[in-house]
Amino acid sequence: MSGTTPPIIELRAVDKRFGQLPPPGPLGRLARSLGWSRPAAVTHAVDGVSLSVAPGEVVGLVGESGCGKSTLGRIAAGLLAPSSGTVLVDGKSRERLTRDEERAARLRVQMVFQDPFGSLNPRLRVSRIVGEAALFHGLTDAPGQDDYVCAQLERAGLDPALRHRYPHQFSGGQRQRIGIARALAVNPALLVCDEAVAALDVSIQAQILNLFMDLRDRLALTYLFISHDLGVIEHVCDRVVVMYLGRVVESAPVDELFARPHHPYTQALLREIPRIDARRARFTPLAGEIASPLDPPSGCHFHPRCPLAFERCRTEVPQLRGIAIHHQSACHLDAGAAA
Ligand code: SF4
Repeated sequence: MSGTTPPIIELRAVDKRFGQLPPPGPLGRLARSLGWSRPAAVTHAVDGVSLSVAPGEVVGLVGESGCGKSTLGRIAAGLLAPSSGTVLVDGKSRERLTRDEERAARLRVQMVFQDPFGSLNPRLRVSRIVGEAALFHGLTDAPGQDDYVCAQLERAGLDPALRHRYPHQFSGGQRQRIGIARALAVNPALLVCDEAVAALDVSIQAQILNLFMDLRDRLALTYLFISHDLGVIEHVCDRVVVMYLGRVVESAPVDELFARPHHPYTQALLREIPRIDARRARFTPLAGEIASPLDPPSGCHFHPRCPLAFERCRTEVPQLRGIAIHHQSACHLDAGAAA
């Protein structure tokens, strides 16, 4: 990353909580003292996460379902506001942007969803789905909209002659290409891809991944690639961030992470990938279930499943610290590692 170019997106100590908080003020205190108010049911989906994506990077965000990675992706894309913490776009805090800057920032970061059918309006023709936002934001005008849409579809590998059809008339892979064309139509710098190939057949997955990488080269695109599939992450990413129950537990360049996974959770995830390579052919399912974010374990969230857990793990939250160049891990066993 250039020393002067800020990350396209940067999250600083971001928290996201869902659910009912106790009523504020004296009435709430009175109700609680009389036992009239129920305890708050709060899901702590994202817990103090800091993360940045530099221009041109492909950052993978991995973890089991329920770890908060999709919530984090939506915060990065501006679809959800954090409960606390700061989101910066091109080095500027979102909270301090003017209305025009906020609009430009929303266009800079676009999202591609897992379920292309669910994210496309079934009542609209593809030409409108792809061209509407570009027209609204002045990236094309009404006379030029049709040509503009054709160019977006071609870029996403779809025949422009199909632009007058409806989403249900396409296959799953084609629908994902429509979703990509729609995202590209507003000239984003960063795509947040949330399990973008998870719902597709393996052969179609490979085609869409190749399209993402081709677009990266042609358009200098940057990606935050969210997936539970480490095989996909290894294939496309430069750097990997591993999450567990709302927290980042490890972060490293992709080659480093796959060669020297450090955190016990990352090691367990990597053992789960079936390999043709005989040295890593073992398939060892991760023991136990991920805990509910409504009632996460104390201390290190991973301690009930960790084979190396000791007393301190039950009471103290491990901090993310450097263990090698560009490699961070959050485990009490790293306490003596070099920063
Ligand atoms: Fe395991 Fe303790 Fe490290 Fe958590 S802090 S990963 S429980 S050893």
